[in-house]
This record gives sequence, C-alpha cells and structure tokens, in this order.
Amino acid sequence: MKKILQDLNFEELSSLVLARGEKPFRARQLFEGLMQGKAISEIPISAALKTSLLEEYEGAPVKILETYVSKDGTKKFLFLLADGNIVEGVLMSYKYGNTQCVSTQVGCRMGCKFCASTLNGRIRDLTAGEILGQILCVNRAEGGTLKERKVTNVVLMGSGEPFDNYDNVVKFLRLVTAEGGIHISARNISLSTCGLVPEMKRFALENIPLNLTVSLHAVTDEERKRTMPIANRYKIAEILDACAFYFERTGRRYIFEYSLIAGENCDEQHALALSELLKGKPCHVNLIRLNEVKERELKTTTEKDAYRFLGILEKQGISATLRRSMGSDIGGACGQLRARYLSEN
Ligand code: SAH
Repeated sequence: MKKILQDLNFEELSSLVLARGEKPFRARQLFEGLMQGKAISEIPISAALKTSLLEEYEGAPVKILETYVSKDGTKKFLFLLADGNIVEGVLMSYKYGNTQCVSTQVGCRMGCKFCASTLNGRIRDLTAGEILGQILCVNRAEGGTLKERKVTNVVLMGSGEPFDNYDNVVKFLRLVTAEGGIHISARNISLSTCGLVPEMKRFALENIPLNLTVSLHAVTDEERKRTMPIANRYKIAEILDACAFYFERTGRRYIFEYSLIAGENCDEQHALALSELLKGKPCHVNLIRLNEVKERELKTTTEKDAYRFLGILEKQGISATLRRSMGSDIGGACGQLRARYLSEN
C-alpha cells in the first residue's frame, strides 16, 4: 500500500513539497485541496509535483462507495480504502448542525456481545489520514467547504476502539482541529471508549478538550463481563478512577454510554445501582435502547421501560438523557452496514 498524504499536517506537507524543489505556496495549495476532500489529481499543482506525489502516495485514500438515506434524514456511508477494505460512517442532522460518526479501525477486537463491528475481529487500524478522509469526503459530498462546513460535529463511535489505535487517533484529532484545515473544534468532538484505563489516563494529558465518553453498559463487573470482554481486564472502579483523573486534569465532565438490553441491565435495581455508582460525579449518562443486531441474540428494551429507567436516574439526581435511535431502517448500529455489505458481496 502506498503512503497517505492526508496523514501529514501542514508543516510536514510543507517540508515534503519544499524538498521536491517547489515554492512554499504550493504547499498551501496542496493542503487546501486535500482538506477540501480532493484527490491529488484534482488539485491545481504542477504536473511534475502530481506525478512525483502519486508515485509514493495514494491519490484518494478514502472514497465513498455507497450512500444510504434513512427516512429520518440520517445518511449512512460505506467508504472504500485504498487496500480494498471497507469502513462505515453516519451523518446525522440536528438543529445545531451535522454530526458525523467515524470509524477508527477496520473491524474491532474488543468482542462486545451486542456489537456488529467486532463480529469478524479487527482487520487493521486506520491511519490518521484515513479517519480524517471519511470527514473530508462527506463534507465535500454534502456540498460543504472549509469555510462553510457541512460536517460540524464528529463522534468517534463507528467501528473500532479509538484507544486501541491510540497514536493514529490522537494524530487525527490534531489534524481535524488544526487551523487552516477543516478546523472542527475539539469541543464539538466526542470520543467513545470501552474503557481502556491506561489510555484514558494518557489522553487526559494530551490537552485535547473533547468530550470523553465511556461505554459502561453494566453496573457490576460480573454483569459487565457477560457483554464486554474488556471487563476481564479493567474493573468498573478503575474506570471510575480514570474518569476522576480525567476530570481533575481537564476540568471536563465525562459521559457514560449505557445501552439498554432487555433482561440484562435495565430493571429498577440496575437503575438504582447505576445512580449509586455515579452519584455526585461530574458526569452525564446517555441511555440508548439497544439496536438489535441480526447476528446477536440480545434484545432491546421497550420504550416504556427505557423511560422508566431514565426516570429513576433523574429522581436520584443523575444527569441523563435517552437518545433517539436514528437511522435504524438503514442499519444504523455500529458495523451493521459493513457486515451486511460483506455478506452480500
Ligand atoms: N469502541 C468504542 C466506540 C464504539 S461504538 C466504545 O466501545 O465505546 C459507540 C457506542 O455504541 C458504544 O457505547 C457501544 O458500546 C455502542 N454500541 C455498539 N453496538 C451497539 C448496539 N447494537 N446497540 C446500541 N449500542 C451499541
């Protein structure tokens, strides 16, 4: 596989262009073209520079392979990578803008029992430029530019465990927030982790003020082990410690994801135990009714029970919301679309 130009920040790109005997303004042109989501061949640089770049670098490392539009306006994309691998992403519209959900790995090795992304394990990590490339192509396809962005918010909640690909993800975060590029503010970015404790602590020191989200999905270690193998490595208490450290270092509150699974984690006792666990902590709980995945036997809870669960948390003084499930008619849950595409093709 060739190298990926979108992995480079502006300084790195400048040195590369200067080393090829080009004028400094060519670096700016190249950088802007790339950030507009263009392929190398479409950028107005000299033919000689194009040719020499294309010998070493992928012309377009991420391409939109297919787009699906849901009744609620949510769009789901399949992206084709240069080596033929496929990842997926979603674009959801809200009042305040459009949020894109990006993948960080091809597949995932965390093995969560409710998730479609991990069905075939992890194939490989994405590079920083491949994560960024998903956003650049969607912004362009939606008619956005660098000044008038069509992607305003980003969530790292597609396939993959971001902290299992730590260096590339941090590099991506620096690229996507950089001035002169697509320049999305860290405050408009959420990163979701299944709770890799050492990386959570390390990330607290990176000085990237995004929204840290942790997938909890259970209230005891024993129950968590039933759906999340990572619970065999890190205890809930260690995750809570890492969250406290994150808050101490960044002053930012954190969020817990809690997917409601019928007969597993969402009766009244669970709601009370969750409240007890989180009482007084600077956190918010995002509840979501499980998106049922055909290959998995876990079932979602009723809407009524979901609201009852929410009601108990609120009564106990826990800040919580029940998220709307979007795009379920087009395979909205993590990894569903890629799994379907791979089985049909
Ligand atoms: N690896 C990261 C990001 C994954 S996806 C993590 O584990 O946090 C983002 C969220 O969707 C996670 O909270 C994940 O547990 C949840 N999720 C995965 N499959 C789901 C499903 N079928 N229904 C509901 N939530 C799901």
